[in-house]
Amino acid sequence: MPELHPRIQPIFDEVLRRNAGEVEFHQAALEVFESLGRVIAKNPQYAEASILERICEPERQIIFRVPWVDDAGRVQINRGFRVEFNSALGPFKGGLRFHPSVYLGTIKFLGFEQVFKNALTGMPIGGGKGGSDFDPKGRSTAEIMRFCQSFMTELYRHIGEYTDVPAGDIGVGGREIGFLFGQYKRITNRYESAVLTGKGINWGGSLVRTEATGYGAAFFAQEMLKTREQSFDGSRVLVSGSGNVALYAIEKVHQMGGTVVACSDSSGVVYDADGLDLDLLRQVKEVDRGRLSDYADARGSASDYRADSSIWSIADATHIDVALPCATQNELSDADARVLVDNGVVAVAEGANMPCTPGAVRIFTDASVLFGPGKAANAGGVATSALEMQQNASRDSWTFAHTEERLEEIMRGIHERCVETADEYGEPGNYVLGANIGGFTRVADAMLALGVI
Ligand code: GLU
Repeated sequence: MPELHPRIQPIFDEVLRRNAGEVEFHQAALEVFESLGRVIAKNPQYAEASILERICEPERQIIFRVPWVDDAGRVQINRGFRVEFNSALGPFKGGLRFHPSVYLGTIKFLGFEQVFKNALTGMPIGGGKGGSDFDPKGRSTAEIMRFCQSFMTELYRHIGEYTDVPAGDIGVGGREIGFLFGQYKRITNRYESAVLTGKGINWGGSLVRTEATGYGAAFFAQEMLKTREQSFDGSRVLVSGSGNVALYAIEKVHQMGGTVVACSDSSGVVYDADGLDLDLLRQVKEVDRGRLSDYADARGSASDYRADSSIWSIADATHIDVALPCATQNELSDADARVLVDNGVVAVAEGANMPCTPGAVRIFTDASVLFGPGKAANAGGVATSALEMQQNASRDSWTFAHTEERLEEIMRGIHERCVETADEYGEPGNYVLGANIGGFTRVADAMLALGVI
């Protein structure tokens, strides 16, 4: 493990002490700190103004009770969170995650990452994140609605177009954003479109927002491949997950001439040696809200369903060029990374937030695999949220083609910023360093300009 700069080590020790038990947050902070040694050495003004200490402490953390009544008439209690991490560049911005594993440490790791990701987009958005330990799995639409209404009944007082703008994440899609927006509108008596992003197209949403994270990850991977005169054309690809990010990463890879041969959910993996049937996958996941086992049943002999297996081990049996982890944090282990490297993978881009363990990232970078960290590779989602806010502010709606063009341009810009920053700091091709420093300096400079607040 690389050593931290002597000025940074005590700050990290303090992060560990003040945020005991929040292991994902520690992991996210350490990953950024490992990149910042030379930045601190080169720019003493950051240390003088205690920027690192301040950047690790959220501006505001809200934890609240979410009571609701299930279909059987029983009272259920969940815990709601919103961590408003940094607003130096704009209103807090970041999604809501509904998943039983959510606790404060999850939301803080996601919020911390979001600060740098959002900065890297070059758009005027700060960073925050929220969610709940509510488990949407198996819940009826009426239960989801009652939960969302109760969640917003507390959250509404903390958010606003100029304050904090939530969106979706795992477990929160268009349906949930609809229920949340409806309750916000009812409580405040305001049609404040830009208070949430990821809205439906006919009530203030943006075209391409649904596709943006997955498309953006594929665009970013394509930019990385181009630096080695390669492309998706003719490539074989693994995409983990089968939620919104994964589905649209698969779509874009197919449009760019690649073949995605496998994807996964929390119960198993489907491996279709000749490529996934995206139309069927979308029908099962988006329309029927089913599982991958249902997809495999419908697809018959073209599909090999493997319960409880790791998607990355598929690289052992068939040649894979690119891996796009699009499921969840720490889903790609050191051992998985070794399998991918040993079998000749050339690029990995993180569609999810922090899906690769720190050891896996080291294995990729040591093997000179092109590695695009989530802060850069999955920033297309939040960037398109910022485009949705622009459309809301001007009461306009853009065409699909125009919005997608803007997304592509933003992803190219993020790629360029990573490459240039890595070059400037003497580590060409190190996208982790480029993303961390590129995001950090933009936030840090704004914090310096705004004084000690
Ligand atoms: N949850 C997404 C992310 O991790 C999107 C956030 C947003 O659109 O505000 O970046």
